[in-house]
Amino acid sequence: MSESSTVDHPTRRVLIVGGGITGGVLSLALAQQGVSVVLVDLRESLGGVGHGITLQGNALKAFRSVGIYDKLAERSFPFSHLRLKTADGHVIAEIPTPPMGGAELPGTMGAVRGDLADILAEEVVAAGVDVRLGVTLTDIDDHGDSVTVTLSDGTSETVDLLVGADGIRSKVRGMIGIEDQPRPVGMGIWRTVAKRPVEMDCSEMYYGGPKYKAGYTPISEDLCYAFLLEENLDRSFIGEGARGSELKERGQGYGGIWGEVRDSLADDAVVNYQWIESICVESPWYRGRSIIIGDAAHACPPLIAQGAAMCAEDAVILAEMLTGGDPIDDVLPAFMARRFPRVKMVLDNSLTLAEWEIHPETEGADPGRIMGQTLHALVEPA
Ligand SMILES: Cc1cc2nc3c(=O)[nH]c(=O)nc-3n(C[C@H](O)[C@H](O)[C@H](O)COP(=O)(O)OP(=O)(O)OC[C@H]3O[C@@H](n4cnc5c(N)ncnc54)[C@H](O)[C@@H]3O)c2cc1C
Repeated sequence: MSESSTVDHPTRRVLIVGGGITGGVLSLALAQQGVSVVLVDLRESLGGVGHGITLQGNALKAFRSVGIYDKLAERSFPFSHLRLKTADGHVIAEIPTPPMGGAELPGTMGAVRGDLADILAEEVVAAGVDVRLGVTLTDIDDHGDSVTVTLSDGTSETVDLLVGADGIRSKVRGMIGIEDQPRPVGMGIWRTVAKRPVEMDCSEMYYGGPKYKAGYTPISEDLCYAFLLEENLDRSFIGEGARGSELKERGQGYGGIWGEVRDSLADDAVVNYQWIESICVESPWYRGRSIIIGDAAHACPPLIAQGAAMCAEDAVILAEMLTGGDPIDDVLPAFMARRFPRVKMVLDNSLTLAEWEIHPETEGADPGRIMGQTLHALVEPA
């Protein structure tokens, strides 16, 4: 049974599991339309930690629609093309990023992940979302026209819709009977945040070197985010906390600005190493009055930098459709029809790109072409 509300659409109360980019944007978009939102997250704080993120125009458009773009833009680094280079730093091609978020937004922006998470967290609280931290769900009871969710703090909530935005290892996914699990793509990624050399003006990727790929994105006036992709390594060899010294060693053989950034790293610089995984839950992503969105439903290798954009688009569109006046039972299939082809295109192209980066000898392998094609296809609004 839903709580009474003055809104004129059938979605009055929603419980969201997961306060990352997907759950944060969805909370805001729903709360701004008068929906009562409960947001639960296992973490003790919604704020963010380090690292960088490359945000394409369609992600920025979603952020603007929930009112967080301006604050993010103040701290970030916009640009409108990406460059492919040889391992020694010579330009192979420059690809303009098309206006995926419309003409008034930059094609791409580099940002500090922590800044994005902090801004989202502040706005979610300001929007009146009922945030419950250190909490997860323990049971779901679907009544057909509502769902009762039992939480680990002993409380329960009866809502019109449960949304699992709890990431690639989603608990909600399994609880609603979707068995899909993420799988390794066959590459591991080293990531670090470093000082931005002044000549770094956009994302650049270095091909043809000793590893699959090296690259970086400027993420603020002072900082950049650098990465190195190679085969999956045994994590016991890397240990708990990877360090600058390891990335410096693994990243030998690259010149240009990448080599400069590598050499500038302190031996004890904070470095993250992880395997790249992907998942694509076939449509539909809902069962009864529960749905999974964002990485819980689809996670692509981050080679076209569209993961967060797909998550934010899911959130904005689901909120728009849930508050458009149609019954929820009609909205869910309509949402799938609108979302799935676009998400699948990005995922398939990202997986093809991963395959080509692992096996550059593949006939017809052309990373620049598939990146360009994908970005151009995304100019079409979500
Ligand atoms: C190495 C790497 C680099 C990337 N780079 C980019 C990039 O440059 N650009 C880009 O657009 N995308 C990038 N992505 C993808 C992007 O980061 C993700 O698509 C996006 O962050 C997923 O957001 P989410 O909110 O769906 O999930 P998550 O960020 O995983 O958030 C899930 C939230 O749910 C919470 N949670 C989990 N389980 C539970 C539970 N049982 N109960 C309660 N709460 C729970 C978690 O604490 C978390 O807050 C990258 C991904 C990777 C792996």
